[in-house]
Amino acid sequence: MGLMIFVCVFLCVLASAPTSNGWGPEGHYMVCKIAESYLTSNARKAVGELLPKDAIDLASVCSWPDEIRKQQKWSTTLHFVNTPGVCNFDYNRDCHSNGVKDFCVVAAIKNYTEQLETYQHSPTYNLTEALMFLAHFVGDIHQPLHCGFAADYGGNIIPVNWYDVKTNLHRVWDDNMVQKKMNDSFYGDLITMAKELKMEIDSQDYYAQKVNEWKACGNDAFACAKKFASESIELACALAYKNVQPDCTLGDYYFTTRISTVEERIIYASSYQASFTAQQNIQQYSRR
Ligand SMILES: [Zn+2]
Repeated sequence: MGLMIFVCVFLCVLASAPTSNGWGPEGHYMVCKIAESYLTSNARKAVGELLPKDAIDLASVCSWPDEIRKQQKWSTTLHFVNTPGVCNFDYNRDCHSNGVKDFCVVAAIKNYTEQLETYQHSPTYNLTEALMFLAHFVGDIHQPLHCGFAADYGGNIIPVNWYDVKTNLHRVWDDNMVQKKMNDSFYGDLITMAKELKMEIDSQDYYAQKVNEWKACGNDAFACAKKFASESIELACALAYKNVQPDCTLGDYYFTTRISTVEERIIYASSYQASFTAQQNIQQYSRR
């Protein structure tokens, strides 16, 4: 059942501020780690060929695009997409940066997918970077506040208290909730949490039922990315922003009513990544 899920489709959309990172290192690591566990041997071999020589695996470089943001400032706006304060996503309206059209996480997923598709012909791009960017942006787009409101930079300028720690709303979704779950339920062990999420995928019919929904965008990365962005802004409105005021304190109630969505979005991102990036494209490249 699990494999069937990953032979389908995946992605997500997050919109946030220029200073946001998407999921924190833990979230991105889990997205890529779970995805890797579903690769066929051919796909695994092909991914290995594209990774940097010193990389342990895809998960170990899944946060690379965040690490190079300061040096490669042009890439910053590719991590998110924002809306003008509305709870729906419109590509033509929302995907731009300072007047430059087609510059957002949705366009980035489309572009890096197309770059990877040149691998079997005559690669003219840096496909190592394309793979790492794509793996990362698929994670980002599933973090609801990476498709948030432009006015508050996807929650980055909404100060909140996470229990007794001052932070901002965006960071609560990037880092704080994932870390709390990991510490409370998995002794702070990231690998154990990733394994648990994978077991949930393999054992619950609920995720199998999601397959048809994911198939709706087919093998079209652009269509999938737009779908993921739409899902994220809807979740941002329904959950992330809901009943949050500047300087409010978020604690047990906020956590218990949102953490399942956080886990679900990580699962969806990893499943799209496994199916599309590896199963469909990279596997073909390995046959060149
Ligand atoms: Zn990011």
